[in-house]
Amino acid sequence: MKVSKAAGAVVAVVTLTLSASACSVIGGGDEKETISIGVKFDQPGLGLRAEGGKYSGFDVDVATYIAKQLGYGPDQIEFKQVYSSDRELMLQYNEVDFVAASYSINDKRKAKVDFAGPYFKAHQDLLIRADEKDIAKASDLNRKRLCSVTGSTSAQNVKDKLAPKASLLELGGYSECVVALQDDVLDAMTTDNSILAGYAAQEQNRGKFKLAGLQLSDEYYGIGIRKGNTELQTKINAALRKMVEDGSWARFVQNNFGAAHYRSEPAPEITEGK
Ligand code: GLU
Repeated sequence: MKVSKAAGAVVAVVTLTLSASACSVIGGGDEKETISIGVKFDQPGLGLRAEGGKYSGFDVDVATYIAKQLGYGPDQIEFKQVYSSDRELMLQYNEVDFVAASYSINDKRKAKVDFAGPYFKAHQDLLIRADEKDIAKASDLNRKRLCSVTGSTSAQNVKDKLAPKASLLELGGYSECVVALQDDVLDAMTTDNSILAGYAAQEQNRGKFKLAGLQLSDEYYGIGIRKGNTELQTKINAALRKMVEDGSWARFVQNNFGAAHYRSEPAPEITEGK
C-alpha cells in the first residue's frame, strides 16, 4: 500500500466520493501485497509480541479488524514495533501505514500526523507496589521516584501539572518501568490504566502491584495515519464504527482486558475527520 507520490494526493481526494469499487486502500491504484502496522510489542492487553512471533492485545485485534476492512487478511499484515517516542516519525518516514499503539489523540501530535477514531478511552493512573501506603493521589508523587516513558502524554502530564517535583525517570518502554518498580529503584510508575492493569495481571506480577485507581487524565486512543490522508481516515473511521456495531469491539475488550479485571469506558464517539 504505497502512497503514490504527487498524483496520490489528488487522486485520493477525487476518488473518495467515486470509488466504492477501487481496490487500493490509500488511493491512486498503487496496491501492495501487505500492510504494515505499528503496534507496541511489550504492553500485555494492548500490544504484545510473544516469543515465536505471535501478536496479541486489544490494539492488535483492532488493527487486524481494520486491515480486514481495508482488504488485507491476517497473513498480509506486517506488524512493526513502535515506541511512544517514535510513532509520529514512523508515520512520517513511511515505515508503517498506520499506528495502533495506545496512541492518544492530541493537538501536539496532530501538528505532525492525523488520526482516525477515537476507538478507546483510558485514564492516566499509577501503578504502585502492593504494600505501598504513602501514595494515594498525584501530588503524593512530588519528591517520590516515578517512572514513565519518553514521548508519552503520561510523562508530559507529570512534568506539566501532576507532580512537577517528582523525580521522573523516563525510559523507552513501560515494561522497563515495571522491572525498576519491582526492584525498588522506584516508588511508582504512571501511564494509562489500561496498560497498568495489563502488567499487574501478568502471571509473574501477581500480588506484587496495585493500581491507585485515579483518573488523572482522559486518553482517547486514535489510529495514527499520515497527515492529510483523508481517504484512509474515512475508511478507518468506517471500520471502527462497524467494529462497534457488529459487537467486535466489545468482544476485543472482553478478550484482552477481562483477565486483568479492567473495566473500560464505553466505546467513544468518533470525532476525527469531522
Ligand atoms: N496514551 C498515552 C500516549 O499516547 C500513553 C501510552 C503510550 O505511551 O503509549 O502517550
